[in-house]
Amino acid sequence: EKTYGVSRWGGGYFRIGDNGNVKVTPDPNDPSIQIDFKSVINDIKEEGIQLPVVVRFHDVLRAQVENLNKLFNQIIEEAGYQGSYNGVYPIKVNQMREVVEEIVDAGTPYGYGLEAGSKAELLAALAMNTNEDSLTILNGYKDEEFMRLALLGRMLGRRMVVVVEKYSELLLLIKASKQLGIEPIIGVRAKMTVKGRGKWEGSAGERAKFGLTIAEIIKTARHLEQEGMSHCLKLLHFHIGSQLTDIRAIKEAITEGARIYADLHKMGFELDYVDVGGGLGIDYDGSNSTNDSSRNYTMHEYIADIVYGMKEVCDMEKVPHPTLVSESGRAITAHHSCVIMEIVGEIRSNSAELDTSVVDGEHFFTKNMREMLENFDGAPNKQELYNDASQYKEQALDAFKLRVLNLEELGKIETLYWQIMVKLKAFYADVDFVPEDLLELDYRLSSQYLCNFSVFQSAADTWAIDQLLPVVPLMRMDEPPTVNCSLVDITCDSDGKIDKFAVGREITNVLPMHPLKKGEHYYAGLFLTGAYQDVMGDMHNLFGRLNEVHIFSYDDDPEDFYIEEVVKGSSVEDVLHIMQYNPKAMATDVKRLIDKQISAGKIKPREGVKWTDFYENCLSGYTYLKTD
Ligand code: PLP
Repeated sequence: EKTYGVSRWGGGYFRIGDNGNVKVTPDPNDPSIQIDFKSVINDIKEEGIQLPVVVRFHDVLRAQVENLNKLFNQIIEEAGYQGSYNGVYPIKVNQMREVVEEIVDAGTPYGYGLEAGSKAELLAALAMNTNEDSLTILNGYKDEEFMRLALLGRMLGRRMVVVVEKYSELLLLIKASKQLGIEPIIGVRAKMTVKGRGKWEGSAGERAKFGLTIAEIIKTARHLEQEGMSHCLKLLHFHIGSQLTDIRAIKEAITEGARIYADLHKMGFELDYVDVGGGLGIDYDGSNSTNDSSRNYTMHEYIADIVYGMKEVCDMEKVPHPTLVSESGRAITAHHSCVIMEIVGEIRSNSAELDTSVVDGEHFFTKNMREMLENFDGAPNKQELYNDASQYKEQALDAFKLRVLNLEELGKIETLYWQIMVKLKAFYADVDFVPEDLLELDYRLSSQYLCNFSVFQSAADTWAIDQLLPVVPLMRMDEPPTVNCSLVDITCDSDGKIDKFAVGREITNVLPMHPLKKGEHYYAGLFLTGAYQDVMGDMHNLFGRLNEVHIFSYDDDPEDFYIEEVVKGSSVEDVLHIMQYNPKAMATDVKRLIDKQISAGKIKPREGVKWTDFYENCLSGYTYLKTD
């Protein structure tokens, strides 16, 4: 627990069981429910589902929707706030139908709605968010068709709010509304001066891509007034960035947003809603700090700052408390899914050891390197020894290129070099001061565990923006993890790796894992992938979408669960199809080539049939490694 911090980032959903396996508690109100990941893996395998898999815990999704809504309602009551809460879930964070359906269902008693930021998302929201009490907030850039779709929603009696991001959108909306004779509900998005801190701080400030300046907001309101439509202007929206690491940015944004709302009100524009956007962060590294992958506040504190902050300004300005809207996506979805992957091998620079005993006529580089190793204990200055050994290794490589040294001798020098490095590492493990050059030794001697997954498909943000996601072994947690390693995926891309981990209180480039045992499967979980990672993946190297299992717990047995649904991941055929191949034609072509070998008498017809079937099976198979 100290090493992996499961309870710190786990949000009450994950823990290490006494048997050394990681367990999930999908309903934090009932900690007696503990589903063992080992049992989940066993069931997955029994059902013939290949790893890697995405595991979705729908109970976790429901719990997060309930947490957010209940907390808003509770704090609103405690604060004596006169408005209510009408949150929305931004579909872009995870558009999977099953996810959106679960959120809408869990949110129905709270009037919790959806946010859409593109035409496709709007079409989905129109079909999914049928609850008349909930909002559908429409952000992002829009065309005339988009406006008409929003008005279709109005015609169906739905609370669709078109948030104007750009002045020209207003003109499009008014035109469509007049043509169709349907009144819109309009929001304006303010370009905030307060910037979030962290990776998404570009969402605010004068160079922000979205939103209206104060002058543009006033121009919009006045234009609506001229058109006799000022009563349609109902919502003020702002969003200062996702994963806000520092609570101070939120407090400042609320003050700024509340002031804009209050002054608009005093100018005669009586808005009903203030939408504070997303940004509620996740503590990915468990440090509860302003690190990029963390945040220094809780959901409770975030909500309290919104409610009390808004109340304070409104009371001072003597304007009504607006209905509060928030668009949390990450906080709703991050915990509900994880990726289970198998570690299928180990890569180590010093794994192959050649026999380095003395042979006649050996090169003096080999002899010198061996002497350094033999005299290690007596060497008074270990850094000097490191420098000399490193220099010999480099010189040996040059000598090899100049054909002075042969391949075998270079291999022996390499072996001796790594043996010296292992001794140096052991020596410096017990010493207080480690010279800078040698600090890297740990990393250079660490293993790389080869994982059957693709970083680009399952953890896009770790590659794109250096986001940290927790990785933990799913079993053997009752044994000390003695192998320091980074993780590499199976794509043919050296960027396909994970080498940033939270270990204890530190961010390191290696993670302690357990030594691989022959004949035993060793699985790791990549956690908190439910927000963005689940849906942003890329098919690099044609590794497609993962198989998915949806897990539910039984009410009557705290350790039991059932796989409610299996969503098959991409087959090789599927991914080839996307790239414009015709897998059927490919199979026919390959069959023709095999038949030619039969006709030429090179293989027997029965063998030919086997090869044809094999090719076709691979086409319809999974894109990841088959490990059983
Ligand atoms: N709303 C808007 C307008 C956004 O751009 C985003 C994401 O950046 C969100 C909501 C969701 O934010 P988060 O996932 O941080 O809750």
